[in-house]
Amino acid sequence: FNVPTPKNEPVKAYAPGSPERIELQKTLKEFRAQEVDVPMYIGSEEVRTGKKRPMSPPHDHQHILGYFHEGDASHVEQAINAALGAKEAWESMEWEQRAAIFLKAADLLAGPYRAKINAATMLGQSKNAMQAEIDAACEFIDFLRFNVQYMTEIYAQQPPVSGDGVWNRLEQRPLEGFIFALTPFNFTAIAGNLPTSAAMMGNTIVWKPAYTQIYSAKVLMDVFKEAGVPDGVINLIYVDGPTAGNIIFNHADFAGIHFTGSTGVFQHIWKTIGENIYKYKSYPRIVGETGGKDFVLAHKSANPKAVAVGLSRGAFEFQGQKCSAASRAYIPSNLWDDVKKYLLEDLADMKMGPTEDFTNFINAVIDEKSFDKISKYITDAKKAEGVEIIAGGNFDKSKGYFIEPTVLVVTDPMYTTMKEEIFGPVLTIYVYNAEHFETALELVDQTSPYALTGAIFSTDRYAIELATKKLRNAAGNFYINDKPTGAVVGQQPFGGARASGTNDKAGSMINLLRWVSPRTIKETF
Ligand code: NAD
Repeated sequence: FNVPTPKNEPVKAYAPGSPERIELQKTLKEFRAQEVDVPMYIGSEEVRTGKKRPMSPPHDHQHILGYFHEGDASHVEQAINAALGAKEAWESMEWEQRAAIFLKAADLLAGPYRAKINAATMLGQSKNAMQAEIDAACEFIDFLRFNVQYMTEIYAQQPPVSGDGVWNRLEQRPLEGFIFALTPFNFTAIAGNLPTSAAMMGNTIVWKPAYTQIYSAKVLMDVFKEAGVPDGVINLIYVDGPTAGNIIFNHADFAGIHFTGSTGVFQHIWKTIGENIYKYKSYPRIVGETGGKDFVLAHKSANPKAVAVGLSRGAFEFQGQKCSAASRAYIPSNLWDDVKKYLLEDLADMKMGPTEDFTNFINAVIDEKSFDKISKYITDAKKAEGVEIIAGGNFDKSKGYFIEPTVLVVTDPMYTTMKEEIFGPVLTIYVYNAEHFETALELVDQTSPYALTGAIFSTDRYAIELATKKLRNAAGNFYINDKPTGAVVGQQPFGGARASGTNDKAGSMINLLRWVSPRTIKETF
């Protein structure tokens, strides 16, 4: 079993005048000028319902990029039937053939589709060129290549011991039924990974993306088709979540959900599955990565410049619309003046504006609903006692959904924005008495129900050891002297516990094992 050894896809720099920049700019222009017509993909059909919904860049919401065809309950049924119909041929295909298809998809994304997937992500989801490159190109390519490696290791697992006259075998079967991939707007790589990782293991999929990610989902579907994913293996539908859920979670052949999104939606889904449990042939696999309230904790021994960079990058890259984004910070009183100075210097350099201008670092948040939710937290903070806004605080949705990187400093460590997921460019800081590190550790652990990512900054080994122990359950991804974002596939498997998810580590063997149901075979001679 020797598949090509995976290596992380190098991130291109998009320097002025570089070939990749020229090609990306050309593609952006083309995508802006055309009005793309996006069908659903069910079995071998491209389904155009005529119920056309517009797609616009979040940073320029009056511009129409194109239209997608919205479906209804009947299309959910069709997609389920297509997935079930494609299942036998797909699961009996040699795994090497499935591996080759996904390795080819990775190569298509690394080559001819790179500019397309980046342009679709920049325009559709308002990410700048580097953000799109890291997410839609490199991270998804890594997911595909590393998952193929993990898949190989699963199929190559040592069989159980066999006694005299007996041969014991372990067969890694796909699940019986179809898998529902329900994906979020914020990462093109996640939207691609959820259907492909389950499909790789021989399952067939109904994939429903967020409506605000359909442009890049369509480009991914083009890649899957060209790579040779057979019709019906991945079915892409645009139907509103509750309508899709109502059909899927009532279906006897529902075998599992691969979800990334908010905690509330996942909890609702889990409850619905529980209520319908007698309807299913098997216990469905429930895999979900959900919300976060990710922390940065500095110890009095920390380097204040490193802390400030960790905060500005960790909180504001990707407009804070990253599940791992730093959104609450605990800074010791002895470091606060320096951390504040460096942080404000860093923020002053962050230009905000549309993604097509490559000098902009901060882009728009995804849609009006997000804009209204995030800006309300800022408006409330302006009126609250004990809250000081030391940076940002302005927002404007007249042309695009722009919110300045905003920093709140609070005197109450339990203030709302220290506890709730905002999912936008808002960072809240609590300055604690530098001599009370243990109290700060307790606050980090107890303030929010989430446990996705977190970071400790310190040069004191005892403080690092204490934080690592006391915060054992406070984060699924824990960083020492680095920002709490930027997990790399194959290097830092990603996922959180508590209200942040089932922690089945995206891009790992743990995740792929959720999509098989082993059969033990004993043969006696
Ligand atoms: P969301 O929960 O609003 O939507 C996720 C998907 O569920 C979308 O496709 C949506 O249409 C669908 N959906 C919504 N309500 C539904 C319902 N009642 N029934 C069925 N489907 C429904 O999430 P989002 O706004 O797209 O993404 C942001 C969230 O995702 C944040 O909470 C963020 O923390 C989380 N996230 C987590 C991770 C992680 O790895 N833990 C990664 C990325 C994003």
